[in-house]
Amino acid sequence: VKLDDEIIQKEFFMQIAMVQDKIVPVEQLDPAYFDRGLYFGDGVYEVLRSYNGKIFGLDEHIERLANSLAAIEITGIDVKEIRGRVQEAFDTAKVPNVKIYFHVTRGSALRSHGWDNSLKPNFFMLISDLEEDPELKAKGVAVSVYPDIRWKRCDIKSLNLLPNVLAQQDATRKGCFEAIFLNDAGFITEGSSSAFFQIFGRTVHTTPLSKSILPSITRKFVLKAAANVGLEIVEKSIMPNQLKAVDELLLGTTTKDVIPVVEFDGQTIRDGRPGKYTKQLIEEFRLFTV
Ligand code: PLP
Repeated sequence: VKLDDEIIQKEFFMQIAMVQDKIVPVEQLDPAYFDRGLYFGDGVYEVLRSYNGKIFGLDEHIERLANSLAAIEITGIDVKEIRGRVQEAFDTAKVPNVKIYFHVTRGSALRSHGWDNSLKPNFFMLISDLEEDPELKAKGVAVSVYPDIRWKRCDIKSLNLLPNVLAQQDATRKGCFEAIFLNDAGFITEGSSSAFFQIFGRTVHTTPLSKSILPSITRKFVLKAAANVGLEIVEKSIMPNQLKAVDELLLGTTTKDVIPVVEFDGQTIRDGRPGKYTKQLIEEFRLFTV
């Protein structure tokens, strides 16, 4: 790939690049080195999955992508075309159960905070085998807590994921599957890469949609499943101390759909086994995927 002339010509009378320990002529650098996604996390992404040869929630993911792009003012890329690319790559893969990751960044340019409106967005997609782990659903997982140190626009699926990365690493270090974010006021927001639900009796609680959480696609379908099986839904944030009375906990995330949570911040939930409504939600969710 040849570097955009625009990048090379601008101010390149004296520029030296070094990649690892090698000096590289600037004009030979891959434009990927100039991707604003790398310097600023200046881009948005989506993760989708397929079940048995069919992409799940494609329209929902494309709609969220459109919202994310608009929110950070990336224009010049047609989401309908991206939808086509996702379908094309998936059809090419010919694998029934895959994870589809893609991102759109603002483009490649010399590093400068402000951008030129003529920049061409960069697109990257990776489709990979999805490995199911039935143990997760059968036994449930433990979650830890982590301060929600994210910015005030968590509704945008932006490439800036440092808080999520740190939270996940902290959870893994503690032997947990996922970290649950607690905001400054002590309320649960969501998981570092999942929506989080609490069941009290026959009522499913989850954080209401706002700029503080990602509008999770799985969340939407879990709430639909909950309504289908006749559970009450309350969209209200709660604090960890309210979990003393909780009956069941669960996570929702695209690649794994519904995962029972049996331990929260070191405390075992009830008998430490996946709850009956969680199991029902797993079954009900499965119906959306066939
Ligand atoms: N919340 C956050 C912060 C996430 O990163 C994710 C997914 O990675 C989710 C929730 C779940 O979203 P979805 O159900 O669309 O995968």
